[in-house]
Amino acid sequence: MVPWKPERNRIRNGMRVPTPAPFVRRVQPYRCVSSLDRIDPHASPEPMKLDWNESTIPPSPLVLERITAFLNNTHHLNWYPDQRARELTQKLEEYTGVDASKLLVTAGSDAALDLLCQTYIGPNDEVVVPSPTYTHFLVYAGARGAHILQVYGRDPFELDVDAIMQSLSARTKMVYLVSPSNPTGLVYPPALIARIARAAPQAVVVVDEAYFEFAESSAIQLVETYPNIVITRTFSKSFGIAGLRIGYLVAPEGIIEDLRRLYNPKSVNVLGQIAATAALEDLEYLYSYVNSVNEAKEHMGTWLSERGFLVRVTAANFIMMKVPNPGAFIALCEEEGVYIRDRSMQPQLDQYVRMNVGTMKQTHELCERLERAIQRLPRLA
Ligand SMILES: *Cc1c(COP(=O)(O)O)cnc(C)c1O
Repeated sequence: MVPWKPERNRIRNGMRVPTPAPFVRRVQPYRCVSSLDRIDPHASPEPMKLDWNESTIPPSPLVLERITAFLNNTHHLNWYPDQRARELTQKLEEYTGVDASKLLVTAGSDAALDLLCQTYIGPNDEVVVPSPTYTHFLVYAGARGAHILQVYGRDPFELDVDAIMQSLSARTKMVYLVSPSNPTGLVYPPALIARIARAAPQAVVVVDEAYFEFAESSAIQLVETYPNIVITRTFSKSFGIAGLRIGYLVAPEGIIEDLRRLYNPKSVNVLGQIAATAALEDLEYLYSYVNSVNEAKEHMGTWLSERGFLVRVTAANFIMMKVPNPGAFIALCEEEGVYIRDRSMQPQLDQYVRMNVGTMKQTHELCERLERAIQRLPRLA
């Protein structure tokens, strides 16, 4: 138990100032290091933004067409969005094969994770988080005063089933799994997720499938059987509308009812709803992008291995690669207009950088730029 402490006066410039709520005071802000601050989108050659796992191409032309048509009706922006996101939910029923009663559309999947934490976690509830993981979740759980148990396996790139199973107890209130995981690419097979759900029936087992479209695995079927499994997904990665903030969750009806207590139906913006609906009407576009990325991933794996790097090709849309001096390598890449993400500060990921992968066409251009960066890299250790 964290003892309750009375608030100490906070003084700034000699004046008493407000203090955040007790649990918020302990939260480490999510370190939002984005290359956007340094990128000039009009630069030539075109910058390659590969640090946040976003899609590397614009969304389907149908998305732009629908948004444009919508904006041409001048009244549309002064009304609130459809609070039940009916059209989008209907399309999601077709896409997921799940009934609307088990679907909830959110403002990005981040909002789904936040809502789950707000609804189910109270002070000192234990939350099991196999790690390394998507660290933004830790902010949402931390803000509720959760006791977060980060579980590290023997090797970050291999499932350590025993470590996870041993961390579960009657105190576990939530388990957060990312599958395929960011940044390790680990995939949790549905059978393992079911086993976790049975071992901790009092816990909500959250499966973050942000990269579902790139993988061949999903736990979505389990929602029909297990009352405590929730899947979160997003339109930010494979559908190319990260800027419009649309995600959704799939959960048993009981959980959806609980979540609706705090859910803000106005929070899912109108342009995002239109865009996501249109994106689901052009699945050919999605599949062609996903296939190209998956092919390019393999190509990158081979290409970098041939140049002496240890590469982890993941089931998501990114690769992890080990470089002796990540800082120097990242700087050299930026000189070539290639922006990648340093993950070397995370436990177990010493020397690793993460790079998302685009289409085959983009990848040929990327390799030319990387070749120049690599040639200027001080000799590999
Ligand atoms: C990118 C990412 C998210 C955030 O998705 P949004 O829908 O844009 O909020 C959530 N989870 C994981 C694992 C991610 O990598």
